[in-house]
Amino acid sequence: AEMFGQLTGGLEAAWSKLKGEEVLTKENIVEPMRDIRRALLEADVSLPVVRRFVQAVSDQAVGTGLIRGVKPDQQLVKIVHDELVKLMGGEVSELVFAKSKPTVILLAGLQGVGKTTVSAKLALYLKKLGKSCMLIAGDVYRPAAIDQLVILGNQVGVPVYAAGTAIKPAEIARQGLQEARQKNVDVVIMDTAGRLQIDKAMMDELKEVKRVLNPTEVLLVVDAMTGQEAAALVTTFNVEIGITGAILTKLDGDSRGGAALSVKEVSGKPIKLVGRGERMEDLEPFYPDRMAGRILG
Ligand code: GDP
Repeated sequence: AEMFGQLTGGLEAAWSKLKGEEVLTKENIVEPMRDIRRALLEADVSLPVVRRFVQAVSDQAVGTGLIRGVKPDQQLVKIVHDELVKLMGGEVSELVFAKSKPTVILLAGLQGVGKTTVSAKLALYLKKLGKSCMLIAGDVYRPAAIDQLVILGNQVGVPVYAAGTAIKPAEIARQGLQEARQKNVDVVIMDTAGRLQIDKAMMDELKEVKRVLNPTEVLLVVDAMTGQEAAALVTTFNVEIGITGAILTKLDGDSRGGAALSVKEVSGKPIKLVGRGERMEDLEPFYPDRMAGRILG
């Protein structure tokens, strides 16, 4: 419960108000529901999501009636748990692989969210699944990012296609893809340039790169600390370029949880993977049920 400590504590306040009650009623869930609402809002869950969530939980709470041997506070915990899992997409959303080689994964996202790190982490993750990979260094505005990707690629033992900065992203995508075909790799991952904010030039460039690559996966890398704005960010990228999912980074930081809880519901796109550390091994699938368990402490 380290990272969602505040949320966990806020929700505990809700259950504690049901101690000594025999059954859940319309009356005695008013206070706990207020606590749940407050806890979610403080965790930066987006408002419409909080509204729907609270409604769904209270409908079920009142409709559940008496369950022998289960205390009302435990009933509410169970209902909240199940709704949290549903909110985060229910099942794990697996990465999709192309029918014929190579599978192309395009990574997008704002600057500093952990895109370059994720590129190499993802290559290592796929390598462990037995896939051969290649990385394309597409952040042509930051030589340091290209150097960093080359270093990380070396570290995880995956080749990096880099062609400097005097080249258009779409052109490096074309060359990189050609190289990947020649090398006959299973998966090619392209890191792209991020900007501090969403702008038209960035979107146009990404669209062009996407056209060239025809990727199987377009994953938006989102910093979990983004909080409230994360869901809107995913929605915007989805509308503009069309994404297949998100990767949430820095879950090891003091994220309040809002992004993890809002992204799927608001954007319709699942979180597929999460980064929870700076080491190359720190990337794993996003398990809604585990996340719900962690939130409930
Ligand atoms: P980019 O600008 O999106 O390519 O971001 P970078 O990959 O350069 O990462 C920015 C910073 O975030 C670096 O210092 C990374 O080490 C750090 N970082 C990336 N992912 C994670 C993560 O999951 N947890 C932590 N704690 N730090 C991360």
